[in-house]
Amino acid sequence: MARKKKKVKQIEAIIGIIVLAILTLGAFQSGEIQNYFLKSKKVVNPITAEESQNVVLEGEDILQIHFFDVGQADSILLISDGKTMLIDAGNNEDGDLIVSNIKDLGITKLDYVVGTHPHEDHIGGLDDVISNFKIGTIYMPKVQTNTKTFEDVIDAISNKNLQVTTPKQNDKFIVGKVECEIMLVGEQTKEVEENLNLSSIVIRATYKEQSYLFMADAEEQNEVTRTWEQTNVLKVGHHGSDTSTSTTFLNQVLPQIAIISVGKDNSYNHPNQTTLNKLSKLGTLIYRTDEKGNILIESDGIQNKVSFY
Ligand SMILES: [Zn+2]
Repeated sequence: MARKKKKVKQIEAIIGIIVLAILTLGAFQSGEIQNYFLKSKKVVNPITAEESQNVVLEGEDILQIHFFDVGQADSILLISDGKTMLIDAGNNEDGDLIVSNIKDLGITKLDYVVGTHPHEDHIGGLDDVISNFKIGTIYMPKVQTNTKTFEDVIDAISNKNLQVTTPKQNDKFIVGKVECEIMLVGEQTKEVEENLNLSSIVIRATYKEQSYLFMADAEEQNEVTRTWEQTNVLKVGHHGSDTSTSTTFLNQVLPQIAIISVGKDNSYNHPNQTTLNKLSKLGTLIYRTDEKGNILIESDGIQNKVSFY
């Protein structure tokens, strides 16, 4: 009899351990425990734009990334070793401004042009850009929409006998001395047709020790589909909306600098205060085009220098 009781107790203890293990695993998967550990992370040694003016960049191969102030829209130009990549081209009315910004930099050819997703605030000025420069590879997701803006872009592409290339996730390509990787790219689904942001092409660029993540308008449901490496500079997703930049994502990326491309007094209330708070809490420095105008990041691959013009 005593032996039987002992055995029952042992079985109860084993069941208890199994239940505890299942509960712990469940909590970990639901993110509660993950978040508990991740919350303790902090950004390492961010340097302000003001402090960075004292930074002396070494060597001749200085990477430039221009975040053009195009109001409530995106347009980013990366220049490395004479090669160029334009990510998005603002709204329709920004076309002339972007063309003259690029010409002012003495550029005649864009080696890569990325239309991250077919919303007007990203591809609006692309037709003007394509008509005005020599164009290399054009990256766009395989997603169509029936707006005039989209048709204008497709017309500009076919007028110059160019083609759209749809990259695949994890594809790599080189711009000058910068290694780029396609982190995300969506395809035409019902869900994407209802929210084109979900088709955003997301690119991570690396130059020696420095890295840059261009999130376009990717949202939290895109962020959770993969893991993210720590990255020095983050172009914040979807103009700082609270539908992007989840805590789980941010705690992996741990950006030192965040750039938000956003229009003054926009009707969307971007950037969302929650997003700003999350970044500040981590120790990330935030620079916004509505406050700073055009933002320029220069790097020798070791350090970043931030300035505004
Ligand atoms: Zn947008």
